[in-house]
Amino acid sequence: MLGSVLIANRGEIAVRIIRGARECGVRTIAVYSEADRLAPHVLEADEAYPIGPAPSSQSYLRAEALIEVARRSGAEAIHPGYGFLSERADFASAVEEAGLVFVGPKAETIAAMGDKTEARRRMADAGVPIVPGLVEALADPERAEAAAAEIGFPVLLKASAGGGGKGMRVVREPEELRRAFEAASREAEAAFGDGAVYLERYLAHPRHVEIQVLGDEHGRVVHLGERECSIQRRHQKLVEEAPSAVLTPEEREAMGATAVRAAEAVEYRGAGTVEFLYEDGEFFFLEMNTRLQVEHPVTELVTGIDLVEWQFRVASGEPLPFTQDDIELSGHAIECRITSEDHLGGFLPSTGRIAHLEIPSGPGVRWDGGIVRGSEVTLHYDPLLAKLVVYAPDRARAVARMARALDELVIDGVDTCAPFHRRVMDEPDFQAGDLSIRYLDEHPELLEPDGDDDEALAAALAAALLEDEYRKGRAPRIGRAAGRTLSAWQRG
Ligand code: ADP
Repeated sequence: MLGSVLIANRGEIAVRIIRGARECGVRTIAVYSEADRLAPHVLEADEAYPIGPAPSSQSYLRAEALIEVARRSGAEAIHPGYGFLSERADFASAVEEAGLVFVGPKAETIAAMGDKTEARRRMADAGVPIVPGLVEALADPERAEAAAAEIGFPVLLKASAGGGGKGMRVVREPEELRRAFEAASREAEAAFGDGAVYLERYLAHPRHVEIQVLGDEHGRVVHLGERECSIQRRHQKLVEEAPSAVLTPEEREAMGATAVRAAEAVEYRGAGTVEFLYEDGEFFFLEMNTRLQVEHPVTELVTGIDLVEWQFRVASGEPLPFTQDDIELSGHAIECRITSEDHLGGFLPSTGRIAHLEIPSGPGVRWDGGIVRGSEVTLHYDPLLAKLVVYAPDRARAVARMARALDELVIDGVDTCAPFHRRVMDEPDFQAGDLSIRYLDEHPELLEPDGDDDEALAAALAAALLEDEYRKGRAPRIGRAAGRTLSAWQRG
């Protein structure tokens, strides 16, 4: 096993990796920007080193500074987490050239899968079904018109270098294509420094279903079942679960075997994810993420396999001791991403100091968090504050458990999307597992302010009176509902 690791990340994922490393007996070395001096990942690591000012371009994205800290601290390896430098092939190469272990796949694998057109080409060659469309970038709008006519509208323009839903444009009519092509290229150029775009068929009602894979350095690759991540906003995931409510065992086996084939085609090492769109029993390769995903906990809960532990074991050269037949799924897990975004205000980012934090607990509840009371939430970084994850014997119980856990969660000081998640748990289509990536378009009510303002005001006044009585020691007890109204009112 590796002796030490530098975690080139922050927030909840840095904390998650530190915990995994500690359980493996690996010394943990954190890095932090000026904004993160007292962040949980800094306090939980064995050692921590400053790497620059708050903006990530001057701190967490400085590859050379990170490698320098690794050298100075005697780290044997670097774990990149997700985001930041995790999918930069040049960073993986630089880490290895510095004589350190990169906890992730080979640089060539990252490079091949990072370019969507090349990934599609490689996958098509390996016999993996891809979303119908092109496998090379478009040279000009004329070629886009010809290709779209062949594929049939609607089509989706996508950035070859894409990620995070950027540089994507749905085009429904031939007349819109030229303008959309130019807009997508511009957006891709601005976001990735590479304006190359291609197009593929825009599926009407797919689910996002992805397969977790795990490979070692000795050629063995297994899959750990699927995660369904159809509940998205602007192509960004909000709720994830394992298993998917609709996959049959045969479909799971077919998708799993395809994902393993995809991973083998790029000699995959470590933990990775093969993403598919699933529609009417058919599935199509979307992309491969060559890193640990945000939603990895749901897979850990239904398989009992600790992905961070296996990332470290594989990086240490250990062979996987299990075969596909050894991997069994049981129970159901759901994850809600708790972001500092106000779902009623168009998911606008919210900033401030966490004044109060009550973390849900009890049977089957897991909290992967990067905040504590007093944490300052700024605009410098991703709005993901934490992930609330539940596990139960079946889906209905997992939904009920998540609703209960969300009721227990209190975060004061910034707005979060937790109330949105609470509504989703009560929504009949979600409860029935009837999902697609259009879920939020079809349920705009989940984003609308609810209730009557007068009623809210009356409740707040009642809560204030109760609080007064309580302080004076006169109220024998405040019931749970009144207590919650009171804390909601106190939050303003
Ligand atoms: P990114 O790398 O930017 O995240 P992806 O290719 O992973 O882009 O796609 C992100 C999301 O966009 C998918 O989960 C899905 O909701 C939507 N999407 C992508 N491709 C298609 C398609 N061909 N048809 C319909 N929706 C799509």
